[in-house]
Amino acid sequence: MNSKQKVIISLIVLLVSFFIAMSISTLYNFRDYGLKSAEKKAHLTAEVIKSGLTAHMVNGMMKEREFFLQQIEQAENINQLWLSRSPTVIKQYGEGFNNEIPRDKIDRDVLKNGKEITKVTETAQKSLMRVTIPFEASAFGNPNCMNCHNAKEGEVLGTVSMVMDITDVRTSSFKTLMYNVILTLILISLIFLLINRFIKPYVSIFYSIQDVMRAAYRGDYSQRVQTYSNPESKNVSDLLNTLLEKLQHTLEELDRKVYVFIKNKNYVKESDPLKNVNNTIDRLSDIYKFKQTIENDKELEDIYNRLAYVLEYNFKLDDFTLTEIDNNSKSKKIVYSKNDCHCRILEGECRANRTHANVDSSIFAKSCSLYNDKDGEEYICIPYTISNELTLVLTIVTKSKEETIRVRELTSDIEDYVTTARPAIVSKKLMQMLNLMARVDQLTGMYNRKFLDEFVDVSIPQAARAKISYAVLMIDIDYFKMINDTYGHDIGDDAIRIVSGVIKTNIRKSDIAIRYGGEEFLVLLYNCEESHVLKIAENIRIAFSKEKITANGESFSKTLSVGCSMFPTDSDSIWKCIKFADMCLYEAKQTGRNKVVKFSQELLKDEDIGESF
Ligand code: GH3
Ligand code: MG
Ligand code: MG
Repeated sequence: MNSKQKVIISLIVLLVSFFIAMSISTLYNFRDYGLKSAEKKAHLTAEVIKSGLTAHMVNGMMKEREFFLQQIEQAENINQLWLSRSPTVIKQYGEGFNNEIPRDKIDRDVLKNGKEITKVTETAQKSLMRVTIPFEASAFGNPNCMNCHNAKEGEVLGTVSMVMDITDVRTSSFKTLMYNVILTLILISLIFLLINRFIKPYVSIFYSIQDVMRAAYRGDYSQRVQTYSNPESKNVSDLLNTLLEKLQHTLEELDRKVYVFIKNKNYVKESDPLKNVNNTIDRLSDIYKFKQTIENDKELEDIYNRLAYVLEYNFKLDDFTLTEIDNNSKSKKIVYSKNDCHCRILEGECRANRTHANVDSSIFAKSCSLYNDKDGEEYICIPYTISNELTLVLTIVTKSKEETIRVRELTSDIEDYVTTARPAIVSKKLMQMLNLMARVDQLTGMYNRKFLDEFVDVSIPQAARAKISYAVLMIDIDYFKMINDTYGHDIGDDAIRIVSGVIKTNIRKSDIAIRYGGEEFLVLLYNCEESHVLKIAENIRIAFSKEKITANGESFSKTLSVGCSMFPTDSDSIWKCIKFADMCLYEAKQTGRNKVVKFSQELLKDEDIGESF
């Protein structure tokens, strides 16, 4: 039951109670008044009878009193009238002509006690009042009773009993009650009409405001306060409705405007626009903070680490790998791996990158042949396009169905972060490329001497500490000048490119090839056993000698010479080793070219240059 119903029921109960109380009071008072009037009439009649009887007695006409009593009995509403004599009077005068002896117990009691008795008898048809009044002897009245009666002062001489019809009192009471009922009903109706007219709009608007406010609290701003006809209520409802309209419109507008900044449009919106705005701003704020932070990161690696931090702590991923794929060079690099990479992504073509679509093992088992499937594990690989050339593939491994569902729903949110990081990744990548270009020779794609300087500064001390060796090869084309002179510079460039290709195919990825000078190359073979060095150098020499250089429709072959030294075996200074390799190359040139010469200490003595180092 709501408060409105409570108020109405209370009001009805109050009015009905008031009405019942008033009716009972009216009925009681009216009846009491009627009874009292009847009693008064009885007294008056009794007094008249007493006076009449006394007059008859004094005048010696007692025998004619019958007529007198009949006349009185005929009076209105007196149904019965009789007299009863006390034993003293009966003794003195007898029972009288009408047997005036006590008729019932009431008569006897009144005769005995001298106290009036009134008794009302109600039947369905009638209301009768029996009144029995005593006549007492008194020597002090006029006439003196004792003149005729042998009685004591105050003795009861007789009684007069009357049965009066007081049905009209009852009828009048009921009539009054009916009038009361009608009046009260009219009054209650009037009160309700007034309440309805003046109070109901205020109560109703109060409840309508309460309903609207409750809905607004739940986030539903579309509800409106009911409009009532009275001006005050209308004013209040109009004001509130305008305010609600404004609030709803502003919140929706705000949410719509802020929402466009979120890349992921898939998340389920709340019904409360205020919550939506709050959620959207929260998400934007997190993404903005992330953006601000990565913009100040120095290295690309820092950005990837930051992204990994978000994946681990914001998105609660505990097994994932981020792989960078260069679509031009087809090179791949695992840039972050939490819990080791479960995929042989570096060994083959990434399916997610090729299809530009998520690869989800929970949708189709064993979706990707590169993934090392394991029971109870699912994976989702998501390709994020960073630039035309660059794709970032996120591989997330999950261990339960619930986790898979959760992760699948997260992918768009993660995309927001990757998209935010995209410009920073692209700019860092560009920087890396510019740095690389400054260190790479344009003709051959090999590193240049600038790179060698940096490499020697950074990597050689590390290699020395880790007891990693490098074999140094110094390679130079034999009689190269002749190519330039005979066929021109472009053909000379071709020859340089061919040597570079030969070198690259004969060394490993961990080895470093540098264009050292015009047609001179320096190769650092990583941790290469001494016994293999000469073999690799020989392979390069022989492979190049078999290459055909084409010019003006004819083709020819050239040879090259190689000088080798070992770091740190020959010297703990890489620069000395480079110099030794150069000496060996010189030795090869001097001793016929198209050969490999390995460094030995004798060479130093022969050349007599040992002192200069
Ligand atoms: P050797 O067998 O003693 O090495 O004789 P060579 O003719 O090869 O002599 P050298 O190594 O001194 O010759 C270097 C020549 O390489 C000189 C220069 O004109 C030419 N050269 C240097 N850089 C380039 C280049 O980028 N392109 C071309 N086409 N030629 C270059
Ligand atoms: Mg040369
Ligand atoms: Mg040269």
